[in-house]
Amino acid sequence: MSSVTSLVENSVAVLRFGAGPVNSLGFATRRDLAAAVEAANAAPGVTAIVIAGNNAMFSGGADIREFGTPAMLQSPNLPDLIAVVDGSAKPVVAAIEGNCLGGGLELALGCNYRVAAQSARLGLPEVKLGLLPGAGGTQRLPRLVGVENALNVILGGEPLPATMFKGSPLLDELVAGDAVGAAVRLARARAGELAAGGRPPRVRDRRVSSEHLEALLGFVRTNVKAGFAAYPAPLKIIEAIEAAATRGFDEGLAIERRLFGELLVHPVSRALRSAFFAERAAARIPDVPESTPLRPVRSVAVIGAGTMGGGIAITFLDAGIPVHLLETSRQALDKGAARVREHYEGQVKKGRLKLEHALATLTLLKPTLSYDDIAQDDVVVEAVFEDMGVKEQVFTALDRVMKPGAILASNTSTLDLNRIAAITRRPADVIGTHFFSPANVMKLLEVVRGKATAGDVLATTMKLARTLRKTAVVAGVCDGFIGNRMIEQYSRQALFMLDEGASPPEVDRAAEKFGFAMGPFRMSDLAGNDIGWHIRKRRYLEQPALVYSKVADKLCELGRFGQKTGAGWYDYRPGDRTAIPSPVVEELVARHRATIGVAPRKLEEREIVDRLVYALVNEGAKILEEGIALRASDIDVVYLAGYGFPVWRGGPMCYAEEVGLYAVALRMRELKRNPYGDPGFWTPAPLIARLAAEGGTFSAVGARS
Ligand code: NAD
Repeated sequence: MSSVTSLVENSVAVLRFGAGPVNSLGFATRRDLAAAVEAANAAPGVTAIVIAGNNAMFSGGADIREFGTPAMLQSPNLPDLIAVVDGSAKPVVAAIEGNCLGGGLELALGCNYRVAAQSARLGLPEVKLGLLPGAGGTQRLPRLVGVENALNVILGGEPLPATMFKGSPLLDELVAGDAVGAAVRLARARAGELAAGGRPPRVRDRRVSSEHLEALLGFVRTNVKAGFAAYPAPLKIIEAIEAAATRGFDEGLAIERRLFGELLVHPVSRALRSAFFAERAAARIPDVPESTPLRPVRSVAVIGAGTMGGGIAITFLDAGIPVHLLETSRQALDKGAARVREHYEGQVKKGRLKLEHALATLTLLKPTLSYDDIAQDDVVVEAVFEDMGVKEQVFTALDRVMKPGAILASNTSTLDLNRIAAITRRPADVIGTHFFSPANVMKLLEVVRGKATAGDVLATTMKLARTLRKTAVVAGVCDGFIGNRMIEQYSRQALFMLDEGASPPEVDRAAEKFGFAMGPFRMSDLAGNDIGWHIRKRRYLEQPALVYSKVADKLCELGRFGQKTGAGWYDYRPGDRTAIPSPVVEELVARHRATIGVAPRKLEEREIVDRLVYALVNEGAKILEEGIALRASDIDVVYLAGYGFPVWRGGPMCYAEEVGLYAVALRMRELKRNPYGDPGFWTPAPLIARLAAEGGTFSAVGARS
């Protein structure tokens, strides 16, 4: 069956194309639409053509399922289809409703006329995937809206309201109602005018004004180089648009095609696309089908109104979900509720929220000291002290009072979720929701699946995460789950490097140059050095064989917990978060080296980065092999959404694949020769060793997405 329907209305052929949620321009649609345009051109009774999408939407663009497959470029590819439209002897009008993005907009630009509904949204988002519009978008858009506007649209990548283009030659008409009807009327009128002969106007024949071109392009290039140095697409977009202004159309099109091809194979573009697909894949759980019936989530309870409980409550309130906030004492409850209120007051003061909206949201907050009040809530998130005894009290109470079918979630970061579940008589209803601090700001949510967690509990929690606008990743039960288990190895390396001769600013600088939002020492000062200290003390008891540098303990013994105490790995001025290299720390580290008998050496940036990143990769590989993460790309999502890993490197696992697992294993074995630190640290994880030997990839391991 054709994906295009053709209906002739009063001598105008109305071609409606597409299927699926966004009418994407996959191979079958391209082939059928090109054939339909040719057929309409050949049909004697047809004088003009209207192209419209099905289901009140033009098109979301390329079919992303074709990305990286031969189908993407299979002929008729998008440029071929647009060439057919562009070559039509009969006028072609695009009727634009809903989204008209990427290849969809390029198709519309290839038409002779465009009629849009006021509610339509137009955009060229390719830059976000590290690409440029490769089907004439960079050549046709400047011919319609000018160089400056085209730069803004294509470099910005955002969908824009059609009303923004009112009055520009991009849109021949902007209508309040039926865009297809208006397009049919316009098509008929233009066909009538052409009846005497001649051909319809084409965008390719328009001239681009090159006034102030050099100055404008120079300015934009400088800004792009300063703000997006790591990204190749913006400069190539500028180059393509420059060609639109300075070369003939066909030459410009060829330049655009060449630049598109260069981007397609660029590692940064590949990483950006990998990150995009990783986020989508993370939502899929192989043994929990999308059709799994969900449990309703109409109201929730949060137990514990401390740092995390408060932030979690705000997250639910922001999504319009009523929250019972439960504490043990009136004092703690009042303090927690006051912090939530202060958050909303702050939002109003900063102009981010209207007062009425804040007040309405706060009516959804119901502080309580009684478990009876929460019995009918659909979901409970426990965020009390990290202590099994306290968790036991809470989950015993929840098991007693909560209605059957309520989801019982724990925010624990280190305790065994299976033990917590076993406290109750309903372990299938227990799940982990590991929020990150501040919970209402951080995007990442690790959803921890216990051995008994029911499929519908997992599916409902994943859906809830989307409602809360979180990026959720499923993790199995282990100490630290995915993110913190990996970061511990990264931190161990950071500390070993201090022992060996690096300074905190040197390590941070190298990490930040690699692209991390923050190096390990600045990050630790922000999170609180006491957190790591607490974990290490537990490790010293539970895993005495695990080697740690003691330098961080010595820092903590001085009370230097980071920003919150005004001093940590750096010094801080009161009320200022700027990290100032600290002579006290320098001396502390030097003394520590003398104590352990290490003669300091200079560590090159490359060594610092390799040790930090490969520490993540090696632990990530273990996590993957153990099935704690469903797929390597889930690990990447955790690091991109929660740990400031540079998105243009795609995440630690994607980065390792880009380097090549053989080369990664080789480097690890090289690092193993370093006599200092934990002798076992750089033994490549069995999975890495195996894949390196077989020429395999992480992406072939675990769940197929
Ligand atoms: P917190 O000390 O700030 O808050 C805990 C709150 O729980 C306190 O207000 C306390 O009064 C209350 N509480 C204690 N026992 C209770 C009980 N029986 N019933 C009701 N309330 C009780 O701790 P936090 O940092 O918010 O951590 C809470 C949980 O979140 C812990 O499991 C922790 O591991 C986890 N977590 C913390 C972070 C973080 O960065 N702080 C990040 C992720 C997860």
